[in-house]
Amino acid sequence: MVNRCPRCGCGSILKNLFHRLQECSECKLEYSREDGFFIGGIPISYGLICGFWIVPLIVVWSLEWLPGDWSVWLGLGGAFAWPFISYRYCQCLWLGLYFVFAENEMPDQLEQKCSEDHE
Ligand SMILES: [Zn+2]
Repeated sequence: MVNRCPRCGCGSILKNLFHRLQECSECKLEYSREDGFFIGGIPISYGLICGFWIVPLIVVWSLEWLPGDWSVWLGLGGAFAWPFISYRYCQCLWLGLYFVFAENEMPDQLEQKCSEDHE
């Protein structure tokens, strides 16, 4: 499941690529647990760009498979573009991780089924 409420698995977390909803449309779980809660998406975004873009580029450059200036420009381009593309999804990941490790913070599970079919 992607972009779904961690409580009921039905409601979306994101309205679109750039906007997050405040609460689940199905079970009314408030997504933000406290002020600044979603700042946790930043280290996730940082870790992903380093692990899956910058480090592989350094490896490719050090093996001389790519010229140095190409590596620098690709690295910079990815580092600037990635947060715009992925930050909201990193916030979803942060929300999911929060409830994995702080399961006691999750309000009681509901016995409801999704009002519409979701994949
Ligand atoms: Zn929900």
